[in-house]
Amino acid sequence: MTDKHRDTPHWRRWLLKPAVLPLARAFVVLVCLSLVATDAWLIWKARSVQLRDAQIETSNLASALARQAADSLKKADTVLLDLVERLQVDGTAPAQLQRLNGLMRQHVFGQAELHGLFAYDRDGNWLVSSFGTIPEGANNADREYFSFHRAHPDDHGPHIGPPIRSRTNNQWIIPVSRRLEDAQGNFAGVALATISIDYLLQFYATFDIRDNGAINLVLNSGIVLVRSPSRESAIGSDISQGQIFSRLLPQSPAGTAMLPSLLDGVERLFSYRQVQGYPLVVVAALAKQDILADWRADTTRQLVVISLLAGLLLLLGFYLIRLIKQGQKTEAELLATRDALRAFNQRLEKQALEDELTQLGNRRRFIRALDDEFARASRYQRPLALVLFDVDYFKQYNDIYGHSAGDACLRAVATSIRGGQKRPADLAVRYGGEEFCLLLPETDAAGALQVAEQVRAAVEAQAIVHAGCPWLRLSLSAGVHVLTPQVGDGPEALVKGADQALYAAKAAGRDRVLLFDQDVEQLIG
Ligand code: GH3
Ligand code: MG
Ligand code: MG
Repeated sequence: MTDKHRDTPHWRRWLLKPAVLPLARAFVVLVCLSLVATDAWLIWKARSVQLRDAQIETSNLASALARQAADSLKKADTVLLDLVERLQVDGTAPAQLQRLNGLMRQHVFGQAELHGLFAYDRDGNWLVSSFGTIPEGANNADREYFSFHRAHPDDHGPHIGPPIRSRTNNQWIIPVSRRLEDAQGNFAGVALATISIDYLLQFYATFDIRDNGAINLVLNSGIVLVRSPSRESAIGSDISQGQIFSRLLPQSPAGTAMLPSLLDGVERLFSYRQVQGYPLVVVAALAKQDILADWRADTTRQLVVISLLAGLLLLLGFYLIRLIKQGQKTEAELLATRDALRAFNQRLEKQALEDELTQLGNRRRFIRALDDEFARASRYQRPLALVLFDVDYFKQYNDIYGHSAGDACLRAVATSIRGGQKRPADLAVRYGGEEFCLLLPETDAAGALQVAEQVRAAVEAQAIVHAGCPWLRLSLSAGVHVLTPQVGDGPEALVKGADQALYAAKAAGRDRVLLFDQDVEQLIG
């Protein structure tokens, strides 16, 4: 582990990784997307539920209305059967007709959906009606039901005709009729019950079909009998070409489908049902826009909330990402600053312990190393050697060649001194001015003398011309002292011995190496 991470908690270290940013971005986007996707799914599901509920609702409504239509027709037809029976059995004498009129009035009075009851002779002339008075010269031979019964001697069932306007009171009515026959089975006229379209409209209006729903009562042939809400133009119109009559009804007597209306083009959910026992179809429809109105309102509210939420999430997410980014940037800057500071400190440290001219260790470095090595040598009882070098006649060299040539000369000497470092622990130092030294741990007198002599010979080999020297080339003198520190000894003893040996070397004629020994001590002393 690098030290830049040593004090950082695990989660912060993780956050500072560069790969975190794309991951965090992907995470934020993913969270928002899944929020939107989940909501879209919920919205779609809610829509399906609304449509399914509406399907059940229209289907139930069609069922109830078909039942009601069947009941109404059954009632009208029962009355009609009774009427046919009486007319055929009792005849059409004025007294009989008088009696029938009373009966008809009672039926019509008791059944709100019955608009009227009528009987016509074989020529279409009115015999009797629940309205009592017969209009002068009234003849209904032109009506569809009259022609139908005259033309169909074998059809003894009830016949439901297309809607017509009553000749009595101009109301829209549905004619339900039966054929009258004489004893020989010849056509003898028509008995007619009329059902009030107004009554059906009022009845249909009691159902809640929202703003744009519709209820239709239609003949199997596709002719519209009733359309609720009331629309005059729809009565009698032909919708046999529509999907329900052309495609669905032939396949199944009941069903549901979402279709555009043939009458007004509005898209509706249509539930149709064949009225049992009669050639009628009931169609109940709810407009798609009404079915989905609540859903639309809910969805709009939901979308606003989700959009706000997703927006907030995005903002928060990207704010967090920015924080991470800033954290990473700050961390990088911090690391760069720390590295620069460390490099600067190292340089300072190096400068503090290095000689500027020769790049050898300086006196401070020497003193530190001497203390350390002396303590170590003392602890392990090992020899520690010190060689002190001094350039001969250097004052003259400066005088003859100038100070900067003197500096260059010192650099040349320094390379030879540096060559005296044989082992990692050896240290070459510029002790001051034109004085150098080599600190050699674990080195005995023979080894130290050998190294010192090598350095002296290396300088000699450089053959630096020195006119101020008797042998006309630059040379070195060296003093060597080796100690295995004893109790009471200090590092200065080592320096002092080497210094005395150097002094002795100078005294002996320079350009040589001398080991500190008793002779030297006596000489100096
Ligand atoms: P000896 O043989 O006895 O050592 O004679 P010497 O001339 O070398 O005597 P001394 O040690 O007294 O002279 C040292 C001279 O080194 C004095 C000074 O001018 C010169 N010197 C000291 N430091 C520098 C330096 O950094 N650069 C240069 N060019 N000369 C220096
Ligand atoms: Mg000197
Ligand atoms: Mg000198």
